[in-house]
Amino acid sequence: MDAPPIVRVLPDHVIDQIAAGEVVERPASVVKELVENALDAGATRIQIDLEEGGARLIRVSDDGSGMGREDLELAFAPHATSKLSGPEDLLHIASLGFRGEALASIGSVARCQLTSRRPEDALGWRVVNEGGRLGPVLEAGAPLGTAVEVRDLFYNTPARRRFLKKTGTEFSRCLDVVQRAALAHDGVGFVLSHDGQRAFDVEPAMDLAGRIRRTFGAEVASALERVEARDGTSRLEGYVAPPRLSRRDTSRQMWFLNGRALRDRLLSAVLREGYRGFLVEHRQPVVFLRIAMDPALVDVNVHPMKSEVRFREERRLFGFLVNALREALRRTDMATPGMSLVEGAARREARAAAAPRPMPALPDPGVLVPRGAPPRTPERLEVREVPGAPWSAAPPARPAHAAPPETLDAPARDEFAGPFLQVARTYLVRALPDGFEVVDQHALHERITYETLRAEVRAGSVAVQRLLVPELVELARSEVELLGGHAPALARLGIELEPFGPTTIAVHGLPARLRRPDAAGLVADLVRVLEESGKPPDADEVLEEVLHSAACRSSVMAGDELGEEAIAALLRRGAQLESDQTCPHARPTRVRFTLADLERAFHRR
Ligand code: ADP
Ligand code: MG
Repeated sequence: MDAPPIVRVLPDHVIDQIAAGEVVERPASVVKELVENALDAGATRIQIDLEEGGARLIRVSDDGSGMGREDLELAFAPHATSKLSGPEDLLHIASLGFRGEALASIGSVARCQLTSRRPEDALGWRVVNEGGRLGPVLEAGAPLGTAVEVRDLFYNTPARRRFLKKTGTEFSRCLDVVQRAALAHDGVGFVLSHDGQRAFDVEPAMDLAGRIRRTFGAEVASALERVEARDGTSRLEGYVAPPRLSRRDTSRQMWFLNGRALRDRLLSAVLREGYRGFLVEHRQPVVFLRIAMDPALVDVNVHPMKSEVRFREERRLFGFLVNALREALRRTDMATPGMSLVEGAARREARAAAAPRPMPALPDPGVLVPRGAPPRTPERLEVREVPGAPWSAAPPARPAHAAPPETLDAPARDEFAGPFLQVARTYLVRALPDGFEVVDQHALHERITYETLRAEVRAGSVAVQRLLVPELVELARSEVELLGGHAPALARLGIELEPFGPTTIAVHGLPARLRRPDAAGLVADLVRVLEESGKPPDADEVLEEVLHSAACRSSVMAGDELGEEAIAALLRRGAQLESDQTCPHARPTRVRFTLADLERAFHRR
């Protein structure tokens, strides 16, 4: 006898639940889909009410175009959408939704109710969907627009429900979704409440700057630099924060493409490239950037949650974005505001007092200009650690948008005439018309060396200092081969070397710019960079690393006693650079105390 067949087509509700797995991962994904629907419906006010992090209730109400009776009958059906009609529409999607999957998916894993009324209808309509079981469409009194209620998410898929995190975690993900939507859509007001408490809101009339301020506070908002650029029909606009506001995570990194919040490989690469040389490794820049481009130039249909896209002209877009970003970044005020150091120290002192456990040495702001005190080692000052510290108070740096004070950035008279104070043979203190500045002489010199070298390499004219006696560096066989293979490319960078026996490299010449170069150290760095990247020395990212390493392996200016003349020359050369505010490894080169900082430090205001 034949065994009964074992392959069968799944019942519809199971198919929907499986599909739901792709779209609905947690409450935040429901919030995202419902808010997108409201935006697609042209809403100007969207209210989001959550209970228990969204696990118990998610209600999204809008004042958009609403739906009629027949629409309600179909809204929960899989692959039902008003946003696409034929395959050609997929090539230029201008709406946030288009897959017709969200409501069907959500309906299959929760108890839902959809109420809607169009402007032309006197009465509204309502339909209930319990875990995929659709009720009849009934007449109902309703305000204009649409309200979708989603209760008891995953009540019928316990395995999923178990994966939900703590209420606070789920809520903060929902908050993130709403905030990103609010930052992407001027002209739309948002109100978010959680367990009856208002958690976030923006008014429809607020612009991007106002929305950022509302979301992240005045400190971030007032340090931002405006970005605006155009390439053909593509536009970029938004704000970037100076590198000192960078963070460990990407929570304040926001890209919007035609109103869609997204994370994208290409856009991450744009940030890495744009901030190269300005940011310490593993720090994430803070940016709020909107791209507006012809929908035909981008494929948004590559990811069920629509959070990734594919750009059709990747290279061109990449170049355009990086240039616009770097240009804006150069205008940001990168000097570390001195006041934040004082406050950081005060906070740490307070914390240390509260918790009497061993603390690392506190930076003592007084030591920056010691009076006869024995010089401390640079490490103990911890100045470099501070940019990563949390910032709570408003920064004393000059406000964004305001023209920079002339005296700081574009001196009329010779601002490098001194007098200067050199502290611990490491820090240069110089008076500014409205305060003073402490410069790390080594970091600045490193930046100068790096920038000059880079300009020479770009111009194809690196001056080479030939060594009278080649310096021999012992390496592993494979390393000698690696370097030997790249010798011609390295020569174009002013690094002349050749294999000298199976385990030895002979360095014949180095860029003349390098001051007291450490050939062995440089060679070791070269090997590491080439091995890690697997690319030739003139590939952009390798080149940058090699130049960084060269700059860092040479300018041993820490510990040099400098006279007034030398100090003036160093500062003057720094001022001529594209940016002299950070060293090539993105540590700050200077810390600035303005009058306002001093007044706050002395409690005069
Ligand atoms: P999609 O957004 O991909 O079209 P959805 O399942 O999210 O698919 O929604 C199905 C359809 O229901 C939409 O195409 C739209 O016509 C309608 N719809 C959903 N939410 C709303 C809303 N808030 N206002 C008006 N129409 C809506
Ligand atoms: Mg949708």
